[in-house]
Amino acid sequence: MFNQKELELLSEKYNMEKSEILMIALNRYGVMNDTQEHRIRLTLRFNGLQNDYFFAINVNTMVSPFTLVDDILYFDGRQVARVVEREQDTCVLSYFRRNKTELTINSNRRNNCKGCKFCSAYTLKPENDNDLMTEEKVIAHMKNVMAEKGMKDLSQVLRVTVCTGCFRDENALVEHLIMLKNALGKLGFNKRIRYIGSQLRSEEALQKIKDNIEHFSLSLTLECFERRDEMMKRVKASLDLEKIKSILSKAKEMGFSSNFLYILGLDRLDTFKKNYAELKPCINRFPVVQVMQNYSSDQEDLRCEEGKNIEYYIEARKYLEDLFKDTEMRPRAWENYRCLFYETFADEVCTSMKK
Ligand code: SF4
Repeated sequence: MFNQKELELLSEKYNMEKSEILMIALNRYGVMNDTQEHRIRLTLRFNGLQNDYFFAINVNTMVSPFTLVDDILYFDGRQVARVVEREQDTCVLSYFRRNKTELTINSNRRNNCKGCKFCSAYTLKPENDNDLMTEEKVIAHMKNVMAEKGMKDLSQVLRVTVCTGCFRDENALVEHLIMLKNALGKLGFNKRIRYIGSQLRSEEALQKIKDNIEHFSLSLTLECFERRDEMMKRVKASLDLEKIKSILSKAKEMGFSSNFLYILGLDRLDTFKKNYAELKPCINRFPVVQVMQNYSSDQEDLRCEEGKNIEYYIEARKYLEDLFKDTEMRPRAWENYRCLFYETFADEVCTSMKK
């Protein structure tokens, strides 16, 4: 079991702050807690840090060196952080982050989506049975949210991320994104739309987006490189590396933001390194690297052997620092709730990482 002694050794070996390693480890192991819930969302402040970070972590799904007692987080019996805020772990239709400038929309009922072994979406309790599949529904929902939050319009929102369940086909997805842009535009939103998913693939679809949405970001859900057929639903697994490279490059060429989402813990490090080096020229935003979490006990078996050890995650982080240090691409902790980077990237302190 990962303990204080190993933490000190790793901190010295990799010249990394202990708090940084602890935050990565918290994502990987989750916590032990006296609750029936399997997952909790918290904002934590680690000892010695000025910044708070948001975590969505698993509870009691494996034996963890972290325990949460009341509002104090312990690692190997020592107090390491305190809870600043807690949230319900439900699958909501929309939520704000970053002082109401970032809006995430789950318009197509993500909790109905099933098929990927590492996923948790279907275990989340839906907020209600609604979706946001028509302009009327989007406007009605957002008007309620705005009233609740005391917002007169959506002009302060810089980016709307669509992170939701799969659509009937690519065309249905494109129509939906355009509908959302128009609906939100009627409420004063005129900035960037980002799609997280794997259904946007053809050049025609990308072109249609370009013709209709001025500022667009594609975050392709790549998830892993090895065992793709085994890990994912067929529609996602059908993307191979060549196709992934071509979609990301095309998106970049068209002037979109282009990156991918990846679950760290499934692939051997050699595979991870080789493929990241190949993908680097195809993107213009740092990839969203998510530390694999166990939503259920048996998901530990999905991890590759190396991925069971905490050092694997630190090695991966060091590799990414080396690979991307000559670019302007940097990770952003506030857009990734199971992040590999918090306060620092290599020897840089990054202000963009705050919650
Ligand atoms: S596509 Fe896979 S990972 Fe995404 S919500 Fe559906 S089951 Fe989960």
